[in-house]
Amino acid sequence: MRLKIAVLAGDGIGPEVTREATNILRAVAELGGHDFTFVEGLIGGVAITENGTPLPSATMDAALDSDAVLLGAVGDNKFNSLTPDKRPEAGLLQIRQALGGYANLRPSIAYTALAASSPLRPEVIENADILFVRELLGGLYFGEPRWWNKETNEAINTMRYTRDEVVRVARIAFELASKRRKKVTSVDKANVLEVSQLWRATVTEIAKDYPDVTLEHQLVDSMAMHIMNIPRNFDVVLTENLFGDILSDEAGVITGSLGMLPSATIGGQVNLYEPVHGSAPDIAGTGKANPLGAILTAAMVLRHSAGLEQDARAVEQAVHKVLDAGYRTADIARGDKNAQLVSTLEMGKHVHQALAESIDRRQSMHAV
Ligand code: NAD
Repeated sequence: MRLKIAVLAGDGIGPEVTREATNILRAVAELGGHDFTFVEGLIGGVAITENGTPLPSATMDAALDSDAVLLGAVGDNKFNSLTPDKRPEAGLLQIRQALGGYANLRPSIAYTALAASSPLRPEVIENADILFVRELLGGLYFGEPRWWNKETNEAINTMRYTRDEVVRVARIAFELASKRRKKVTSVDKANVLEVSQLWRATVTEIAKDYPDVTLEHQLVDSMAMHIMNIPRNFDVVLTENLFGDILSDEAGVITGSLGMLPSATIGGQVNLYEPVHGSAPDIAGTGKANPLGAILTAAMVLRHSAGLEQDARAVEQAVHKVLDAGYRTADIARGDKNAQLVSTLEMGKHVHQALAESIDRRQSMHAV
């Protein structure tokens, strides 16, 4: 398997966690005999310092010329006085737009070993494993007209979807569900909004092409409660842009730390992979950053860009294994007396070791 990955580490803890994620990808390539190449590019504050712009054209070219883009995080307080279009975060918005992905995937998983890190009771989050599929290019964030008339004190945003926009993201949700627990929960507000009625009718129609996948509809307000009450009831959750933004953050609580959450944006020219967290300037350079969100993001690269499902699972299982063994970065050590506190680098090494053992075992089983 050949894969060219553009690595845009960015600012703050971005380079620290991205280094651990790329080490894991290198290990998978080496252990499995794959040919992965890594091309580095600047984005965010480091790019402003070097090139005067948060997204240099060389970075954009490298991203478009790759099979997958792995991004760390952007954001640096020293640029706070710049206008929003010149700040590090502008680079992120520009690259997301240029790559054109319309389906944002956000897993939310309960780790038994981390039950103490979640504010929810262990019996509530037990066995929770949700994959959000959020539509990313339509809805309220992009709909026209949009304006704020400061004289009349009136403002407008427009929630707009076309059938085609719903069809393409719904297909991704059903495809993914058919490889998981075969259930799609589509979220809308069809009792009030016409745009949600279009959403519901379209998703219902697409579901007919996936007879092995169960479809249920939920209204967004009651869904917000169900996620906290019985998260294990959900498999793939399909949402429009705004609802998904809110619900996927809410469900992040199940996992227990921002540092544990991966994401992928697929469907465009090149898939974009990034941990959910930001550049965390408060802990940058201290070795306290949790690299597991970035490492789980690397697993998503393997699954969605390389088609290496077994290796993606091996990385995810390696993460489970190091957590079960008690290794913790500071953000996930809360309330856990048996935790063995480790640095970013040490956590990466433990995952690497667990991964190597599991891939070795798999290969010797094949040899038998
Ligand atoms: P943040 O995600 O950077 O940090 C929030 C809190 O979570 C901090 O206390 C931080 O220490 C902690 N945290 C985050 N990631 C962690 C990790 N991997 N391990 C351990 N702890 C972790 O959000 P913020 O503080 O609101 O923003 C900081 C900067 O990041 C800002 O410039 C913001 O614009 C930017 N930002 C970037 C992205 C992105 O690149 N995708 C996302 C959010 C924020």
